[in-house]
Amino acid sequence: MSRRQKEKPTMSNDCENCGKCCIETEMIVSEHDIDLIMRKCQDHKRKQEFIFKNKDDLFQLKNIEGYCVFFDKLLKICTIYEFRPQGCRFYPLIYDFHRKKCIFDKDCPRVNLFYQDKQVLKEKCDVLKRFLKEQLKINII
Ligand code: SF4
Ligand code: SF4
Repeated sequence: MSRRQKEKPTMSNDCENCGKCCIETEMIVSEHDIDLIMRKCQDHKRKQEFIFKNKDDLFQLKNIEGYCVFFDKLLKICTIYEFRPQGCRFYPLIYDFHRKKCIFDKDCPRVNLFYQDKQVLKEKCDVLKRFLKEQLKINII
């Protein structure tokens, strides 16, 4: 499969257009994510249309009628797949702030299909922690 085909706006193959993580999303986004979406997506030039500041003073994706503002619920696709936020790329890998470690989100029904290689998983976790510290300015140990 060519890179171009891989980047078409559907969920990744492992997801099989599940879209569960795009329902009532609580995805946090960085300034970099916001800039990328506004630069690349003609339909989303005003950030107020797709994000808000949450109670922790972090930018978060909005939902419309229970789905992420970027999710097409009829087609079950992410309409900004190529430019989706970094947190959506890490998912179902998330960081558990209480246990201070990367975990798989229990809400994803196919976690066993992701990051099967332990070394890849460790590297991805390091990237996730760096993202939280450097881009979201979240103080993790
Ligand atoms: S919940 Fe899991 S399987 Fe479903 S779309 Fe999200 S990452 Fe893919
Ligand atoms: S940006 Fe795309 S992948 Fe991320 S929650 Fe929204 S619809 Fe899902």
